[in-house]
Amino acid sequence: MEPRSLMVMREEAQMPKVLLVEDNEMNRDMLSRRLQRKGYDVVFAVDGNAAVSMARIEKPALILMDMSLPVMDGWEATRQIKSNPDTQTIPVIALTAHAMAGDQEKALAAGCEDYDTKPVDFPRLLGKMEELISA
Ligand code: MN
Repeated sequence: MEPRSLMVMREEAQMPKVLLVEDNEMNRDMLSRRLQRKGYDVVFAVDGNAAVSMARIEKPALILMDMSLPVMDGWEATRQIKSNPDTQTIPVIALTAHAMAGDQEKALAAGCEDYDTKPVDFPRLLGKMEELISA
């Protein structure tokens, strides 16, 4: 076996799967590239309905949830994920574009474990992710 493919297999076996829910292509590409560079196995959803399905199908270790989404917003998607016994233990970090007053409380009320604002402070987000995944 080639060393390169062996390395890829080892990374896949060790690194947690993250569901990135983001409808903005540029944000999605940028954040997923940075997560992949850290070794995360990244899967995607581009609307809230797809997020609920992907959570169920992919069983990610963590979900990064944009709140402003087409079809179904991130608030409702999180509520559905948290009300399904198959997916309710998956930690969700809410991401909102602007720090709106009350968003943090709203995120926690929807069942999110944590909350952060965009543009993402990547080291800070990684710290929150690692904390939730290892918990
Ligand atoms: Mn959005």
